[in-house]
Amino acid sequence: MKNENMTLELIDAHVHLDMIRPVEPAVDNARSAGISGIVAVGMDLLSNLKTLTLARRFPGMVYPALGYHPWNIREDDIDKNLGFLDEQLKNAIALGEVGLDYKVKVKKELQQRVFQSLLGLAEKYGKPVNVHSRYSYERTHAMVAATHIPKAVFHWYSGPMEVLDKILDDGYFISATPALAYSDKHREAMIRAPLSNILIETDAPVEFNGKASEPATLVETLHELARLKKLPVSEVAHITTKNSRKFYGLKEDPG
Ligand SMILES: [Zn+2]
Repeated sequence: MKNENMTLELIDAHVHLDMIRPVEPAVDNARSAGISGIVAVGMDLLSNLKTLTLARRFPGMVYPALGYHPWNIREDDIDKNLGFLDEQLKNAIALGEVGLDYKVKVKKELQQRVFQSLLGLAEKYGKPVNVHSRYSYERTHAMVAATHIPKAVFHWYSGPMEVLDKILDDGYFISATPALAYSDKHREAMIRAPLSNILIETDAPVEFNGKASEPATLVETLHELARLKKLPVSEVAHITTKNSRKFYGLKEDPG
């Protein structure tokens, strides 16, 4: 298993690295598992600051995305968060994690207003967007599609197939998580989408089946996806890594 992974080259397209402690062994484990890039997403001001620090600490390995997660929206903090992103987004590879979540208490209207402003920043700075769309699939897609943003990934997509078809028609991406091991909705989406529109990720440190994840858990996402697609693991690794590099504008690994 370990030797096979050594020959792979993977990119974890969505990690909350600022929430993983201690971080050093997690990054080492990721390297040993064949991961050559970690896209670290931010959720609010503090999380964005930590994410930028982590990217400086692990150059060529950790790439920062900056965002404002719907769970973290507080009326009083909105201006501060948007102001920070307007200053710092140019230093990130993407905007994220952003989006809508109709299962949380934050008012839908407020979420939509913030998401609209965030999408405006992605357009202004020409950044791809890493989108959270839980229970809001239709609306999140419609809001992204109404912009001129060419690149968006609907992370951990588990929504309706009709919305997925629109996402794919627009040339956007969806990303697979370790939930592929047990979530029928998530599996269904990954079976339907062509591999050319799929990124792989862990959303670490999220727990899957009661087990905390870390970037190295990406190998599980990869194996599940290869099984679903009935393709060799190496081929799925190669294509999804190429997709992530193109999506986030990352250079080829010199090693
Ligand atoms: Zn996330």
